[in-house]
Amino acid sequence: MFGQVLIHRPENSFDLNWNWTFRKGNLKEEITKFAAIDAVSSKTVRVTVLMIEMTMTLTHLGTGSRGNATLLETEQAKVLIDQGFSGAQLEKRLGRLNLHPTDIDYIFITHHHGDHGGGAAVSQKRWNMNIQANHRTAEELGLMPELTHYFEALDVIRVSEDLAILPVPVPHSGADNVAFVASHNGQRAAVITDLGSWTDELVTHVRGCEHISIEANYDHNRLMNGPYPYTLKDRISGRGGHLSNDQTGRFLAQVCTPATKSISLTHLSEKNNQPHLAESTVLYHIDELFTGDITISLQDGPERSHYIGQSNENELLKKSSP
Ligand SMILES: [Zn+2]
Ligand SMILES: [Zn+2]
Repeated sequence: MFGQVLIHRPENSFDLNWNWTFRKGNLKEEITKFAAIDAVSSKTVRVTVLMIEMTMTLTHLGTGSRGNATLLETEQAKVLIDQGFSGAQLEKRLGRLNLHPTDIDYIFITHHHGDHGGGAAVSQKRWNMNIQANHRTAEELGLMPELTHYFEALDVIRVSEDLAILPVPVPHSGADNVAFVASHNGQRAAVITDLGSWTDELVTHVRGCEHISIEANYDHNRLMNGPYPYTLKDRISGRGGHLSNDQTGRFLAQVCTPATKSISLTHLSEKNNQPHLAESTVLYHIDELFTGDITISLQDGPERSHYIGQSNENELLKKSSP
């Protein structure tokens, strides 16, 4: 889990603030390192370390038609939502976070399309990774039954004491696709990808989530005036296809509440969309409802993490030196 640590040197110091991001497990080591620098460089008399206590973090390792994977971490669990990358790519992207595929407890798969589940079977073969999927998705991906846990839509999956995941069905072409809503101590994050339209059921489960990651696949005008053949344009924009920026904005207008603090727009088409179009179109719909943080997730990650349930600041350590 990432932690952000603010180190203040309040008196007799150079009035510096450090803002470090590091893995929680390295806290002691980092403090020792800092203390050593401190001892030789200044007259600082006190170092106070505040650590923001986090409950759940969400980090996109990359989203788009060339592969999707999203890392969810709590104190007790690490899961991936989707594994649409090659084994080498997954290893590389997790490696940038100082993680290895064997650190992951489960991979949850939204649906069988290659950009979401294409790397699932190889993850089982190479690292014995446990996969959570519904029957159809598991079958289409040729998953190993002994490493596969089969879920039913709307049955809560308890991953650990501090993480539960709810699969919610969404319409998408030729797939039994689900969105996932993760809960940790009453804080919820939704990961919704690849849907041509939405249901009241999805609105009910996503409404009021603290974080929402959702696809904003295409700009309607770009798609219609772009190079794709008519049949493909029709499929993308149909009920079984993907959400346009405008549709994503309208969906978010139904689910955002004051509890919604961050939104990630994901799975942008490289041919039929642009980050500024996705962001401005979505904001047009939610401007009056949403005052949080909106980010765009692109194909190359990992990107910066979203902290869910980040409300308490605990003073972790007060260290005095002579
Ligand atoms: Zn996709
Ligand atoms: Zn798909």
